[in-house]
Amino acid sequence: MITTKLRLTTPVSVSMAAMLFGAAAAFAAEGPSEQHDLWIKGGTVIDGAGQAPRRADVVTRADRIVYVGPPKQFQARHVIDATGKVVAPGFIDTHAHGDPLEDGSFKNFALQGVTSVVLGQDGRTPGYASEHGTDEDIPPGGRRTLEQWLQAVARLPLQTNIASLVGHGTLRLQAGVGISPAVTPAQLQKMRGLLEQGLHAGAYGMSSGLEYVPGRFAGTEELEALAEVVGREGGVVMSHMRSEDEDKIGAAIDELIAQAGYGRVHVSHLKVVFARSPQDGDRVLAQLDGARARGVAITADIYPYLAGYGDLSLLYPPWAKTREAWEQALAKDRAKLEAYLRDRIELRGGAGAILLADAPYTDKTLAKVAAELKLPAEKVVIEVMGFGGPNAAHFIMRADVQDRLICWLYAAIGTDGGPWIRHPRSWGTYPKVLQEHVRERKLMTLEQAVHKMSGLPAQIAGFAERGRIADGYYADVVVFDPKTIRSEATWDHPDRPPVGIDEVIVNGCVQVAAGRLTANHCGRVLRRPPQAKLR
Ligand SMILES: [Zn+2]
Repeated sequence: MITTKLRLTTPVSVSMAAMLFGAAAAFAAEGPSEQHDLWIKGGTVIDGAGQAPRRADVVTRADRIVYVGPPKQFQARHVIDATGKVVAPGFIDTHAHGDPLEDGSFKNFALQGVTSVVLGQDGRTPGYASEHGTDEDIPPGGRRTLEQWLQAVARLPLQTNIASLVGHGTLRLQAGVGISPAVTPAQLQKMRGLLEQGLHAGAYGMSSGLEYVPGRFAGTEELEALAEVVGREGGVVMSHMRSEDEDKIGAAIDELIAQAGYGRVHVSHLKVVFARSPQDGDRVLAQLDGARARGVAITADIYPYLAGYGDLSLLYPPWAKTREAWEQALAKDRAKLEAYLRDRIELRGGAGAILLADAPYTDKTLAKVAAELKLPAEKVVIEVMGFGGPNAAHFIMRADVQDRLICWLYAAIGTDGGPWIRHPRSWGTYPKVLQEHVRERKLMTLEQAVHKMSGLPAQIAGFAERGRIADGYYADVVVFDPKTIRSEATWDHPDRPPVGIDEVIVNGCVQVAAGRLTANHCGRVLRRPPQAKLR
């Protein structure tokens, strides 16, 4: 480890090597006649599989990497000097939000080195309803099947590759189950059929959002029946689990493990909420490692921030999660609802730990709004914010717990961010890990971090021939400076691009050059090949 780190952080040895290479190149200039597209020369390759860094040139032709190896002379249309830089596989985000049909630019991803995102998270199939509203907001005519959505997205100019999951909550809506806890055999058959259709259209698996409506009403039997279809097709079940609270996360993980009898399962945005000691993180890891030791293919993704993000319904009691139940609770037992919200806000660290993210409250805490209005916070939630209320960052995690979780061998780095999510994770996740967790705090090595950002998430999502710097793989590449890379995204300014990510190449096409977006649109829609049986 020490020698590889020295090699990365000692400019003298790198520039010496560059000089030597320069001299050698002058002699070797004769000969090669093959025309290549990109020649990324003089960099330190970190391959994404977790292997130690090595000096190597990378050459691409069309959308593929065609050479990774010792410096040689090539003829290429475009040369990138990566001296002193790391050349890594483009980052793969297994839990991303946004819809290219509605949000336009995905530059927040591209500028932090992301070359592929997986959408359709938390139980919502993209295209069926807007991610910005509730499922009731869109008239049936506005809905698309996943196939139609994929086709529409494929016609757009894209800055990253786009993959999708089928959402379990959407299956419930499509099959007419809605918020009913019971599912008839005919409805379950319909859900299984729709899921299979989505997987055949190219979805990489199914997502569930068991803390949300309508996913929260699903029972174990229903989830297992759907997991069977996903497993048969070689996909992955990704879950925003039923609870992330310290006292309930164990049962939630067990519920997910129960769906692993047919294939791979995955914990989305791994965190322990309301943890009281670092041991709460250790317990979760022991449970996950225990499952893996028994052969359960379970993985996770995680972002490097201590606040989650969501609307104020996160504070609501289980008996008032739907609009109807909320209005009933208000009419029938307002005092009980107020008392619940008061306790819940207190448990989550108080109204000062809730930073509102939508106009007209942007960047004010709930405590501040309450003080301005001279109302208790729970009354603000009920009387001022209305059902759902604005999105907010909720500061509910412990650093010592999240540090343990992010170092788990099978935890990929993912943003849980999106173009419209006002949280620094949308712009800063990958550079923050490379800056803080690797360079400053040395919680993991550079090659471990890069593996968590590329090779591991490629395996998790089931992407073939992506996530590695290797001959024959797709040319998804990020070139960054390990000495200067840092996130500039803050809570006040969550949409500032990072520093130190110089080049981002997607399918052999330069999407980011010298840290700025190019006019290219290099992204594609990714579809899971029907025969894929990745395990
Ligand atoms: Zn989620």
